[in-house]
Amino acid sequence: MDVIRDADVELRPLLERTVGIIGYGNQGRAQALNLRDSGVRVLIGSIADAGAERARADGFEVVGIGVACERADAIALLIPDEVQRGVYEREIASRLRPGQVLDFAHGYNIHFGLIRPPARLDVILVAPRMIGVNVRRSFERGAGVPAYVAVAQDATGNARALALAWAKAIGATRAGVLETTFAQETELDLFTEQGVWPIIMRDLLLSYEVLVEAGFAPELVALELYGSGEAAEIFRQMARVGVIEQMRLHSQTSQYGTLSRGPRMLPDACKELLRAALREIRSGAFAAEWRSEQESGYPRFEALRQAARAHGINRAEQLGRELLARTGLSDTD
Ligand code: NDP
Repeated sequence: MDVIRDADVELRPLLERTVGIIGYGNQGRAQALNLRDSGVRVLIGSIADAGAERARADGFEVVGIGVACERADAIALLIPDEVQRGVYEREIASRLRPGQVLDFAHGYNIHFGLIRPPARLDVILVAPRMIGVNVRRSFERGAGVPAYVAVAQDATGNARALALAWAKAIGATRAGVLETTFAQETELDLFTEQGVWPIIMRDLLLSYEVLVEAGFAPELVALELYGSGEAAEIFRQMARVGVIEQMRLHSQTSQYGTLSRGPRMLPDACKELLRAALREIRSGAFAAEWRSEQESGYPRFEALRQAARAHGINRAEQLGRELLARTGLSDTD
């Protein structure tokens, strides 16, 4: 797969425009600061909240969302995905003009047709593969985090060049940028959330229940399964040296146990469940379910969250957290 680097991209298309960042939260703050440090004119559009105060303290001009959309040539919708549609319909749609650029950090609302911008606008995606605080931290260290870039609408003929310039201005091309589509970015993101994390979380909860039933102390179990931070370190090493290669950091007994029992614990037949999860995402069935859940005030989501918070593991893990805080290791070590 081609990787787009700093030297491949011109900043110029973005330097000629005023960028309006809508929302000064995780991504909004990081991207606004990086864009400004790269020489881009940045304006913040926000409701009157703590984010707006912070943006002013950071030296930005802050205006209402509608005003920012009128004044900016390129508009980044960096508010939570769940509220984007409502804000777009109430405050943005009527103010858009041909030739403007609408930028997203996640493809969900465009891909599922919840936001349908007029055809005479460019619609781009610049999606950093990292939480906002690290988008900024890495940039400040002279580096950057990888990002996906995609184009949904190219009304001006410049959409791709603009998306890449944006990625460069936030530091992403210093690490490397991959081109994709709104569909793939959205589907991959949802698949990881629905096909990967639930299996890991359920396995931790079921393992906890089995071990506590078998007489192990709950605190010991939580510490062993993930509380010591060792599990997080394994994931970090998977990214650094490889899913399989990181096994070298563990004993031979551990390696043999993991490799020999893997297929028994999660047989190949489970792929059918993963395919079903992908189908549900691709068909839009999940998006429809989630939209109806939002419209009815989150009854199922609240019940699920309450049940999860009532699980015994929540109490058992407190000791692990206390011990971890004493290791002298920070989140970024
Ligand atoms: P945040 O949760 O940080 O929210 C951003 C800002 O939007 C906050 O200042 C928030 O204000 C404001 N906001 C909340 N509700 C409303 C509303 N109804 N009207 C106007 N403003 C509102 O968002 P993120 O930065 O996490 O996410 C923004 C986008 O970036 C999303 O599309 C997300 O998928 C994507 N993304 C996020 C990543 C991350 O780092 N979290 C990583 C990659 C992509 P307040 O604080 O007052 O609620």
